[in-house]
Amino acid sequence: MTDYTTPTTGLTSLSAAELAEKIHSGEVTSREVTQAHLDRIAQTDEVLGAFLHVGAEEALATADEVDQAIKAGEKPASALAGVPLALKDLFVTTDAPTTAASKMLDGYVSPYDATVVTKLREAGIPILGKTNLDEFALGSSTENSAFKVTRNPHDIDRTPGGSGGGTSAAVASGQAPLGIGTDTGGSIRQPAALTGTVGVKPTYGTVSRYGMIAAASSLDQGGPTARTVLDTALLHEIVAGVDPFDATSVNKPIAPVVQAAREGASGDLTGIKIGVVKQFERPGNQEGVLDAVSKAYEDLASLGAEVIEVDCPHFDDVMGAYYIIQTSEVSSNLARFDGMRYGLREGDDGKNSANDVMEITRAAGFGPETKRRIMLGTYALSVGYYDAYYLQAQRVRQLIANDFKRAFEQVDVIVAPTTPTTAFMLGEKVDDPLAMYNFDLYTLPLNLAGLPGMSLPIGVAEDTGLPVGLQLMAPAFHDDRLYRVGSAYEAKFS
Ligand code: GLN
Repeated sequence: MTDYTTPTTGLTSLSAAELAEKIHSGEVTSREVTQAHLDRIAQTDEVLGAFLHVGAEEALATADEVDQAIKAGEKPASALAGVPLALKDLFVTTDAPTTAASKMLDGYVSPYDATVVTKLREAGIPILGKTNLDEFALGSSTENSAFKVTRNPHDIDRTPGGSGGGTSAAVASGQAPLGIGTDTGGSIRQPAALTGTVGVKPTYGTVSRYGMIAAASSLDQGGPTARTVLDTALLHEIVAGVDPFDATSVNKPIAPVVQAAREGASGDLTGIKIGVVKQFERPGNQEGVLDAVSKAYEDLASLGAEVIEVDCPHFDDVMGAYYIIQTSEVSSNLARFDGMRYGLREGDDGKNSANDVMEITRAAGFGPETKRRIMLGTYALSVGYYDAYYLQAQRVRQLIANDFKRAFEQVDVIVAPTTPTTAFMLGEKVDDPLAMYNFDLYTLPLNLAGLPGMSLPIGVAEDTGLPVGLQLMAPAFHDDRLYRVGSAYEAKFS
């Protein structure tokens, strides 16, 4: 049987930091490294379905540029120059199609690059291709993609999570050492947990949203994913930073994430206070996940951290608040996909009115979950209901933020499971939206409060043998704390 998890030998087995060192010292070329990952994609992606588009030529051209610069004795463009990456197909690029996994954008090529993509190009990072996701990042299993299903490398009958299942499957299978995702309600952290990789949602406003197709603008945040904490930090530092093209971008220095990842590797957490959220001890959690997470709390304490319980009473109301705010923003953001400006246009026969064309295009172009969100959001924002739903949800959002604030007066970092269970079967929840939504219970509060979070792999659950993620959360602009704690755990227990 083919093993779809990361190989144990060869270039695709190495971390991004290890590959960068080999490339920058001239031991291997970026072309060799990039080709090895393209080969791994060719061998495995027919089954895994992580990529919607592979840009071999473009990736190799970037690799060659890096190799030439190194040969000429120039300093590498960044700490990760020459190390290839998988990009969620929600970021617009000029040299590849951008679909957001929607029929609505079939055939669309952007006239400009997202700021994150510009930063990757400037850093000399070859982009292997665009990865699969739930349509417009709406979902938790990648099954809402209009194009294909992505499979979990640890068990191909199971989901890699969502919405960024493609990126996580690519990183977990050795198709790519690095990935970029987006997280509106968990779409970087949740797939990281289900695939045994590291995924970080940075503080809201610290990674540019320019050219990242909007789902819910007040929640969306791009971020890094990789197989080690240090690799994730190195990529985080490259993509973060203020951007005049994003009105919500924050002009503050990037938290010292790389330094924190390196310092954390000493494994000493003396003086760090860690809070366990009482409200996350829920019935319905899988036994094996609870055991693994409890063991991780003990492990963190054994490194010198003080672990205490914190109370966040309004987390119990997170589901309602998120699904009103998220769908409201989705309904307004997705209004631009009207068959006039981008991608698909249906029913334009010279007889139909513009309104008819819009209606026909939207009926044909959006999948069922996207339509559901647009309808829910439009309803919540409509006259007469706005106060009852949207405004109330905004109040709950504030209460959740206050819970975090109070908790962070007591502790430096908050921990929780990333997900209630390990990876579920493909097909298991796709016809049951509420079951799918409930799976995100633990990742949602962070987005509503705009804070940074990480999912850290802590081994496998004893009852299913599948990966478990520990979620770490920190106050805004203290993303470095995630890396400090994550890296200490990784150094001692992974
Ligand atoms: N699963 C959540 C949702 O469907 C979060 C998605 C995301 O973070 N993009 O809304």
